[in-house]
Amino acid sequence: MVKAGGCQCGKVRYEVTGEPMNQMFCYCSDCQKRTGGDKWFGVWYSYDNFKFTGAETKTFTRKGSSGEDVHNHYCPDCGVTVCADITIGKFFTINGPSFDTGDHLAPKMAIFTASAPKWAVLPSNIPNFETFPSS
Ligand SMILES: [Zn+2]
Ligand SMILES: [Zn+2]
Repeated sequence: MVKAGGCQCGKVRYEVTGEPMNQMFCYCSDCQKRTGGDKWFGVWYSYDNFKFTGAETKTFTRKGSSGEDVHNHYCPDCGVTVCADITIGKFFTINGPSFDTGDHLAPKMAIFTASAPKWAVLPSNIPNFETFPSS
């Protein structure tokens, strides 16, 4: 079952197959700056289950909490970050709302809630972790 999505202007496109490894809200400060909101809704797909199908992205590389590189992929025209390559885990965390259809989307946990802004309303229906869960 192939699912597709992309950026706001439609130039950057991607496809995924199979089921997501996980899906979560991330309240870290980097995600707040990237989204302009209190969190990133990331849907995780392994390298093998993800491919770009549209225009070439631009990338911005930062160090994740692990100290390893995180490559943010964003559209050179509209600027939307469609995903980030989490090199330490060999997966992409995909911008949840960038999928064309959202039937498979259901956040399973909230992470880095200790970094959430004080105006955030944390979800009460899923587990909350102050940083990254160890397991
Ligand atoms: Zn775009
Ligand atoms: Zn984050």
